[in-house]
Amino acid sequence: MIDNYSPSTEKYSENYQIDKPEEACGVFGIYAPEEDVAKLTYFGLYALQHRGQESAGIATFQGEKIYTHKGMGLVSQVFNESTLQQLPGNIGIGHTRYSTTGSSRIINAQPAVVDTPLGPLALAHNGNLVNTVELREELIKSGCYFNSTTDSEMIALAIATEVKTGKSWLEAAISAFHLCQGAFSLTIATSEGLMGVRDPQGIRPLVIGTLENINPKRYVLASETCALDIIGAEYLRDVEPGELVWITEKGMASFHWSQKPQRKLCIFEMIYFARPDSRMEGGSLYSYRLRIGRQLARESFVDADMVIGIPDSGIPAAIGFSQESGILYAEGLIKNRYVGRTFIQPTQHMRESGIRMKLNPLKDVLEGKRVIMVDDSIVRGNTSKKIVKALRDTGAKEVHMRISSPPVTHPCFYGIDTDNQEQLIGATKSVAEIAEQIGVESLAYLSWEGMLKSTEEDPNSFCSACFTGNYPVPLPEKLKRSKLMLENPIQV
Ligand code: AMP
Repeated sequence: MIDNYSPSTEKYSENYQIDKPEEACGVFGIYAPEEDVAKLTYFGLYALQHRGQESAGIATFQGEKIYTHKGMGLVSQVFNESTLQQLPGNIGIGHTRYSTTGSSRIINAQPAVVDTPLGPLALAHNGNLVNTVELREELIKSGCYFNSTTDSEMIALAIATEVKTGKSWLEAAISAFHLCQGAFSLTIATSEGLMGVRDPQGIRPLVIGTLENINPKRYVLASETCALDIIGAEYLRDVEPGELVWITEKGMASFHWSQKPQRKLCIFEMIYFARPDSRMEGGSLYSYRLRIGRQLARESFVDADMVIGIPDSGIPAAIGFSQESGILYAEGLIKNRYVGRTFIQPTQHMRESGIRMKLNPLKDVLEGKRVIMVDDSIVRGNTSKKIVKALRDTGAKEVHMRISSPPVTHPCFYGIDTDNQEQLIGATKSVAEIAEQIGVESLAYLSWEGMLKSTEEDPNSFCSACFTGNYPVPLPEKLKRSKLMLENPIQV
C-alpha cells in the first residue's frame, strides 16, 4: 500500500500491549538530492536483509510531503519498480524487521510515521528500549495515541511530544533521546533533513557513508557497511555512541547529546549477526571470525580427519580452526540458499528428517571420517542436535563440535532475539551434559577471554551480557523477571 501520511487514529486503551519490542533489525537512510533515493534505499535494504525478514518499509520526503510503502516479507517481495516510482524525494529511510513470534503484523512494520507541528517524521529503529513501560505512561499522559505496538513508535512519539513544546527538530530529538534507555540505532527523516543516532553505549551498529565525487556530498546511513558497498557509497566513519548526525542542505553536523557515552558494541553482532563482509572497528568481520576460529583451535584442539563449518555462519571460524590446527578444511554440508520462510508445513516424514530441508550432508566427504564441526553459537541446542544426527546418518565416524563463542547463558534485552533464560541450554546444562544431549564425542566453546582478545580492541568496549549477565544498561526489575528465570545459571 502506498499511502500519503495520515495521522494516528487509534486511541490507547488499557488492553493495548507492547508486543515484543524491535529486535536486531536493519536500518538505512539517505540524503541525496537529484538521486533516486527510493531505489538506493531499496538496494541498501536488500543488503541488510539478513537483519530482518519479517517486513520491510521505505519512507521518502519530497519537500514537505512524505511517501511510505511497507509490507510483510522480504525486501524483494515488498517492493517492485512501480512501488518504488511512487516514492519520490531527496531524503529516504528504510527498515527491515526481524522475525519474532507474536508480533508479526503489518502495523508494526517500519518506518514508524508520526505527525508533529513541524510536519511528519519517519523513524527506523534497530535495538530494544528497556524502559518502555515508563515511557509509554509518560506518552499517554502527554496525550499520545499509538498506531503500533512497538517501542520504535514510542521514540517517534516522544520526539513529536517535544516538538509540540516549540522545540526545533534537533532540540526535540535530543530531549526525547534522554527519555530512552536501552539500545537504539536510528535513522530519522523529516522534510528538513536526515538524522542518524546511536544510544550512549552504541550497542547496535550504525555507519556513515558518502556517495563519492558529488558536490555537495550525498550522505548515507546504514546498520552495516555492506549496505554502503551495494550502492557504491564510501565508508566515512561510524556514528559514535551518544552521537547524533544531522544531514541537511548545509551538510552534516554532529552533536554529542549524551554526557556519558561509553561504547559497548554487541559482541554477538561480530560473532554471528552482522554479515561477514561488513566492517566493524576497522576490520572485516570475516577476519574477526577467522581469528576466533584460530583461537578456538589453540584452546581446544582435537585430532580429526577434517574440519567443516555449519553454513553460513560457522564457515569463517571453521577455516580459521583449520588454518591453526593444520587439519584439512572440507565442505560437509550444502545449504539450499533459496530456502526462505515457508508457510507450508513439511510432512511428518520430512519433519523427522529435520534439518535436511536447509542443509544436506555430503556422504562421500563425510563417510567413515572423524569430523570437527564448527558453529558460531549454540542457543537452545536444537539445531546442533539435528545436524549431528544428519552427519551420523551419513556415516561420520566421530563428530567433535567446536563453538566460536562462549555458552549463551543470559537473554539479550537489547535487540538480539534470545529466549527466556530457562530455554538457553548453556544456562541449564554443563558442557558435558550438552555434549551428551546433542550427541557428540566432544564439545568445546571459545573462552570469553579468547573471544574478546581476538577483537584486538579494548575488551571493555563490548557488551557481552549474553555470555556473562553483566548488562551495561540497567534493567528494570519487571523486565528482568520476564526473561531471567534462573537464580544460578551455569557459568563455564
Ligand atoms: P539453536 O541452538 O537451535 O537455538 O540454534 C543455534 C543456531 O542458530 C546457531 O547456529 C546460530 O547460527 C543461529 N543463531 C544464533 N542466534 C540466533 C538468533 N538470535 N536468531 C536466529 N538464529 C540464531
